[in-house]
Amino acid sequence: MGLACGQNAFILYKRLVNLRVSIVIISSPFKFGFSLYKFGTKCLLSVFILSMMTGGKTLAQQTSSPPPASIKKSVMVKRTPLTILIHGGAGELVRGRYSASIDAAYKAKLTEALELAYSVLEDGGSAMDAVEIAIVTMEDSPLFNAGRGAVFTRDGKNELDAAIMDGATLDAGAIAGVRKVKNPIRLARKVLEESDHVMFAREGAEEFAKDYDVETVKPKYFFTEARWRSYKEGLAAEKRARKAKKKAKLDFDFKYGTVGAVALDRNGNLAAGTSTGGTTLKRWGRVGDAPIIGAGTYADNRSCAVSTTGRGEFFMRLTVARDICAQVEYGGKSVKEAANDVMFNRLQRLGGDGGAIVLARDGSYTLSFSSAGMFRGVKQQNGETSVAIYKDEK
Ligand code: ASP
Repeated sequence: MGLACGQNAFILYKRLVNLRVSIVIISSPFKFGFSLYKFGTKCLLSVFILSMMTGGKTLAQQTSSPPPASIKKSVMVKRTPLTILIHGGAGELVRGRYSASIDAAYKAKLTEALELAYSVLEDGGSAMDAVEIAIVTMEDSPLFNAGRGAVFTRDGKNELDAAIMDGATLDAGAIAGVRKVKNPIRLARKVLEESDHVMFAREGAEEFAKDYDVETVKPKYFFTEARWRSYKEGLAAEKRARKAKKKAKLDFDFKYGTVGAVALDRNGNLAAGTSTGGTTLKRWGRVGDAPIIGAGTYADNRSCAVSTTGRGEFFMRLTVARDICAQVEYGGKSVKEAANDVMFNRLQRLGGDGGAIVLARDGSYTLSFSSAGMFRGVKQQNGETSVAIYKDEK
C-alpha cells in the first residue's frame, strides 16, 4: 500500500514536472505566462499531496510507464502462508468403524506426516519437497493403501501408482503398476526431474528406478495381514454373489485408502502428489486416477493444487483435479466452491464419491469429501496442526 502510494506520487510528480516545463516554454514570451506558471506549481503541490493521501491503486494501474524495477519487485513479492494438506483416503468411515486405538494410530501417522512436511517448508524447502516427504511417511506405514500397505490385485499381487506435479513449472512425473518400488512417489519425482517424459508404466518404470537408484524391495515387502484378509474376504464375497447371481457389493474399504498431499512454500509455489495401491481385486494392469495428471493429481500456480481419493474410474472420466483448477482459473471460484461443485454435483451425478484436498496460492484451502469420512490433516503457518477422520470432526 505504502509502496503503491509512493509509486503513484512519483509518477504524478514526473508527469506534472513535464507539464510545467511545457507551460513555461509555451508561455514565457507572454505576460500571463508567469501567473500560469504559479498556478501550475500550486496544482502540482495539491495533486502531489492528494495522491500521497489516497494511495491511489487505480492511478498506478492507469499509468502506462512501468514502475522502477526495484519498486516492481517488492510490490510483487507477497507473503504466502506456508501450508501442507494431506489425505489418507476417503470412504465409508463412520464412527465406531475402528477402535479408539486404531483411530489414534491413524491420527498419529497423519500428524507425523504433517509435522515432517511442515518443518521442510519452514526450513525453506520447496512445496515439492514437502509433498514428497508427507507422502513417503504415509507410504512407509502399513495403515494406508500406498507403498507398504498397498491392497492386493485379483491375482494376489500389489501394483502401485503415483504422481507428482510442480505448480510453478507444470512439470509432472507419474508411474503406474510398479511392483518392487518402495516409495512410488520418489520414483514419480525422478521421472519428473530426470526424464523427458511424464509417465512410465510397469517394467519400464522399474527399469527407470534401477537406472536412477530409486530403492526397490522384494514384492513380499508389501504383504500385510490386514490387506490380505480384505483380499480374501473380497474373493469370498464375489463367490457368494456369483452363486446368488448378483453383483458383489464390495465394502468401501476395498476401494479407498490412497494418500495425497498438496503444499505451498515460501516462494508462493504450489505442488501436489498422490500415491496408491489402487483398488482391491483390480485386474492386473488396471491403472486408476492417482497417476493420471488432471484426474487424481494437478498443480498450477495460476489456480490451485489438488490430490483426490475415491474410485478412480469416476475421477478419470471427470478429470476431477483439473476441473477443480479450471473452475478456479476460468470461473473465478474459490477453491471451496470449485471442489464442492465437483464432489457434490458432478461426481455424485455420475455415481461416484470420494474426496479432494485443494490449496490455492493465497493459502485458502478446502478438504472436501462426499463420502462418510476422509483421513485428513492440515498445518498452516500460525495455525494448529489438525487431523480428522469423520464428517462431524472439524
Ligand atoms: N483413487 C484410487 C484408485 O482408484 C483409489 C483410492 O483413492 O483409494 O486407484
